[in-house]
Amino acid sequence: TSAVMWFRRDLRVRDNPALLAALEEGSATALFVVDPAIWATAGPARRAWLAANVLALADRIPLTIRHGDPRDVVPQVADGRRVHVAAETTPYGRRRDGAVAEQVELVATGSPYAVGPGLVRNGSGDPYQVFSAFARAWREHGWSDPASTPRSPDLAPADSDQAALDLLEEAVAEAPFDLPGAGEDAAWRRWRSFRDDGLRDYGDERNRPDHDGTSRLSPYLHLGVLHPRSLLAEVPHTSTYATELAWRDFYADVLWHAPSSAWSDLKPALEGMRYDDPDDAIEAWRTGTTGYPIVDAGMRQLMHTGWMHNRVRMITASFLTKDLHVWWPVGARHFLDLLIDGDVASNNHGWQWVAGTGTDASPYFRVFNPVTQGLKFDPQGDYVRRWVPELEHLPGKSAHEPWKSDVGYERDYPLRLVDHADERREALERYQAARG
Ligand code: FAD
Repeated sequence: TSAVMWFRRDLRVRDNPALLAALEEGSATALFVVDPAIWATAGPARRAWLAANVLALADRIPLTIRHGDPRDVVPQVADGRRVHVAAETTPYGRRRDGAVAEQVELVATGSPYAVGPGLVRNGSGDPYQVFSAFARAWREHGWSDPASTPRSPDLAPADSDQAALDLLEEAVAEAPFDLPGAGEDAAWRRWRSFRDDGLRDYGDERNRPDHDGTSRLSPYLHLGVLHPRSLLAEVPHTSTYATELAWRDFYADVLWHAPSSAWSDLKPALEGMRYDDPDDAIEAWRTGTTGYPIVDAGMRQLMHTGWMHNRVRMITASFLTKDLHVWWPVGARHFLDLLIDGDVASNNHGWQWVAGTGTDASPYFRVFNPVTQGLKFDPQGDYVRRWVPELEHLPGKSAHEPWKSDVGYERDYPLRLVDHADERREALERYQAARG
């Protein structure tokens, strides 16, 4: 007999339980479908990153690549056979899989998470609202050991559409900047080098955008080029790194229980909040020309690499929501367009956390000060100078405060768009008003 293995956010051969389940049926056709609905909503960087990783998988195993609505393509390729997948848990993925399952027998094994969304619950069977409690229960729940790697999988020869291959190759060629190395081997090299050199100091280094102190695995984890279970097998479960992976599972769990939280406030408490929609200011934020060096450095890192350091994601998100008073989905949409790790659960709930509308302990009145944050987490100004050439001539920490230097604006760096102290006050007033 034979089955189909439909790859989605699990573009790997190692530690892939759904692939093993498909192969247990005898032989399998490995399939990837370029879904126009996903393709159309991703910017060029995300398309290139996805395409590069699909092509890397196709270099490793015979992969049939087709273009079209999965509701049509999957039943066609399956032709009566069972279709194996890793469970998809985003609102779009669930709808799509529900529709496909009306036409074929869809067998889900595993998910992109260490502990699948919906499985970690409190004593009353309810989902956790707060991360620390979730993380404790998540560790107690535990996860399985990594699955074995199939030695010589019995896979049908690839039978791809030329149009689909062309689309992927064009996307790679049109990448707006150099992307990280695609595929499993590159992901594992990255992990091993971080595990051996970076993990020990991760707890201290992870907040330093000027240092390369984090694993930079998010783009691989997003597409399932690596599974978090493979990483958790190599670090202590109580380590800070495991806790960060727990955040990823937590946000997927939140989205699973509340699909509408992808694009609307999770907590209704701020429903009456007044927001602005200032076109010019939003554009200055997007292009990294707000006049606040750490904000601009982050937005330019995003624009030029498709990735931004976590600390700076928080600072730039706080600036848009609290200093410019813009509703968080505007920023979340922009991040999702550009981030190669762009993930609706982690991104949109990360935004809600900063905006004060989401889970957990970040209340609305917590407003990041872009200057003190910069001085604290980029103390020598190296990160700012790396991304903002107009500030290259300002030594050390003075790059964070060009307004204090006689030559601060010599290279046409923009003046501050708003006054942080004033806007902080304004944000708090709006907050009080919304709370009634
Ligand atoms: P490391 O520090 O090496 O962490 C290891 C892994 O843990 C990450 O790859 C990621 O999978 C997970 N992780 C770490 N922190 C978080 C977190 N706060 N939430 C969820 N998972 C986490 N992460 C995304 O993967 N995709 C996104 O689209 C995304 N958008 C974000 C938007 C905002 C406004 C904020 C504040 C955070 C966002 N994050 C997102 C979380 C975090 O910034 C990135 O996961 C992290 O910067 C990725 O870099 P890294 O792999 O070097 O992380």
